[in-house]
Amino acid sequence: MRPLLPGSTIGVLGAGQLGRMLAQSAQRMGYRVEVFAPGTGTSGTGATPAGQVAHREIQAPYDDLEALAAFAQGVDVVTLEFENIPVSALELLDGQVPVRPGPQVLYQTQNRAREKAFLARAGLPHTSSVTVDGPANFETALKTVGTPAVLKTAGFGYDGKGQLLVRGPGERAAALTQLERGPGVLEGFVEFRRELSVIVARSPSGELQSCGPIENRHQNHILDLSKAPTGASPAVAQQSREIAREVAVALDLTGLVCVEFFETAAGELLVNEIAPRPHNSGHLTIEACRASQFEQQLRAVCGLPLANMEFLVPAAMANLLGELWQERSPDWYGMLAHPGVALHLYGKTEPRAGRKMGHLTALAPSATEAVARVERAREALSRTSA
Ligand code: AMP
Repeated sequence: MRPLLPGSTIGVLGAGQLGRMLAQSAQRMGYRVEVFAPGTGTSGTGATPAGQVAHREIQAPYDDLEALAAFAQGVDVVTLEFENIPVSALELLDGQVPVRPGPQVLYQTQNRAREKAFLARAGLPHTSSVTVDGPANFETALKTVGTPAVLKTAGFGYDGKGQLLVRGPGERAAALTQLERGPGVLEGFVEFRRELSVIVARSPSGELQSCGPIENRHQNHILDLSKAPTGASPAVAQQSREIAREVAVALDLTGLVCVEFFETAAGELLVNEIAPRPHNSGHLTIEACRASQFEQQLRAVCGLPLANMEFLVPAAMANLLGELWQERSPDWYGMLAHPGVALHLYGKTEPRAGRKMGHLTALAPSATEAVARVERAREALSRTSA
């Protein structure tokens, strides 16, 4: 297939902030963007983060065959910003328009049990785990894995949703309730030294470019802060890039993938999660790299030459969660007085606890200074103005 040049139309499945930032990047480069996602309850274009900036938004369920066919007719390629989309929707689109990444990539990565099986087949290091089909298998699984352990829903989990730390019998009831709702994966708790992520783009011709590692700090299983460069040794950093590239090749990916790792106390890397789309930890590439992860996704799915994604400058990113809005509206004026800090808001109107509403990115001469700057700026948001 010939490369899709500026003027082409990109179809995006999902309409959250990742689709919004992809659309902004694509539009800057002269592309049209149409997004497809189930309705939000608020009718009309402009209700979702990506719908607010796309040329067109189709609000329909992912199993609406007619709406999917109409969407396919209007776009030159389909990509995604969210992995919890039925594989059947991608299969249907795949017959009509290039779908990048393809249905097989989504099939392997949207379910944790299948993702672990994929990593095992590919011979890549990952967290030890056992699949738990239902409440009846829980005790046996717990004996195998030991405590502490983390019970995760096999499918449709994100941002710590459907995750339970099992320290002992005290969490048994909660674990059984979770398993009644659907199968899970019980993972051994990893005493990690740090969490890292690497973003890899792969074009239809197999060209690869990687970015990272990036170091991540989570709170309540939700990403709180990312920074680059990381505290990892050059050898560990190099190994993380190699493993992430192997993931992209083994998936036969066209598009972008983020591979999240635990670095253990012994300096061993374990893959924790694979997301075949731009990732929250890659937001700092917007300011810190010559090409952002969103531009790189666009380049990969359009079959364009990939960009170099090395960091030009140290950077840190802090998420803005709904909690910040709880007491009063954040002090934007005070925060914007902090020099060198970029504000990104996703256009969400309901600031619920744990909901990602936006983020801040700071650049600085060192990652430590960038973290200090971004944290000071975020703290300023919840300060009461004098
Ligand atoms: P996940 O949704 O699997 O990426 O998990 C979100 C976050 O929860 C991770 O980035 C870790 O901070 C924490 N977490 C998840 N699984 C484990 C584990 N097996 N051991 C220790 N921490 C974990």
